[in-house]
Amino acid sequence: MDVSLRLPPNKRLRRTTFPHAGIEATLLDAGVVVSGETAGYRWPVTDIDARHRAVFVHAHPDDETVSTGATLAYYAARPDTHVTLVTCTLGEEGEIHVDALAKFAANRSDQLGGYRYAEWLRACDALGVVDRRMLGGAGTWRDSGMMGTASNDHPRAFWRADVDAAAVPLVEVLREIRPQVLVTYDPNGFYGHPDHIQAHRVSVAAARLAADSAFRPDLGPAHHVAKFYWTTVPKSALADGFEALSRSSDNPFEGAAHIDDLPFGVSDDEVTTRIVATGYGRHKLDALAAHETQVPPDNWVYVLAAELGADAVTTEHYILADGERGPGDGPWMWEDDLFAGVTD
Ligand SMILES: [Zn+2]
Repeated sequence: MDVSLRLPPNKRLRRTTFPHAGIEATLLDAGVVVSGETAGYRWPVTDIDARHRAVFVHAHPDDETVSTGATLAYYAARPDTHVTLVTCTLGEEGEIHVDALAKFAANRSDQLGGYRYAEWLRACDALGVVDRRMLGGAGTWRDSGMMGTASNDHPRAFWRADVDAAAVPLVEVLREIRPQVLVTYDPNGFYGHPDHIQAHRVSVAAARLAADSAFRPDLGPAHHVAKFYWTTVPKSALADGFEALSRSSDNPFEGAAHIDDLPFGVSDDEVTTRIVATGYGRHKLDALAAHETQVPPDNWVYVLAAELGADAVTTEHYILADGERGPGDGPWMWEDDLFAGVTD
């Protein structure tokens, strides 16, 4: 195949060979449109020369936006930073909030995954995240649905995946990108969803295996991630939004009378890092709108933004679970940069 490429600034072509089988999946999975001349093909391109590099691992399309959208947009816009998003499933078991698309549901035509893949690409475009990948290739693992449901037992359910096996494609990404920062959920997957818990386990395994030079040397030289973060929300921030949320008909906290009843939220002293991505509220809200099957117009994030201003959705919190904490500020010495203290 002879295709002339016009690469974006600071990007370089990583791989130019295409397997004849599965060519479309390989190209789409790479997640970067190089130029119109390539007729829509997406090529694996990374600017691994960027000084700062972060990999975010999420369970389903829309998680990247809801929990880390402002952070992704903020870092993707920084010229010295490369951001890679790895999403583990297509979210096939998600609810559908658009009546006309209800026919795609898992218990009907079961085509939601393909639709959400397109939503995910549009959301990444809104966030400015050009390097977006599906773990192992789109459709390798399937959305497991909520804990205890029959969909947990689907042969491709991410929840059933062998953790070390599922970590291999992530090891490959870590050794290619060589990020200083890795972001995913805490051991409870932030709120207990099986795929979020599994994303945590797979990320932990991948970080360990990527650093082990004896493991799969064919995947590249060993790489140690300097800072490993979990997403979190401090109860103090929840308190600000709790009332606004109760006015959304799409309130994820329905039934909770008090912040302490929620399945997430930590005390301020457990938080290590706060990213205030002022100016990136529009990116996050546009990305959210791209996930139209998942996000009704009265979604709590919109309500929060409408009631408390865009800054209410551009502040995102993290816990540094592994690595050396950088300099911080305020009563809890929170870092204001995921790369705080990173020197190399
Ligand atoms: Zn999710």
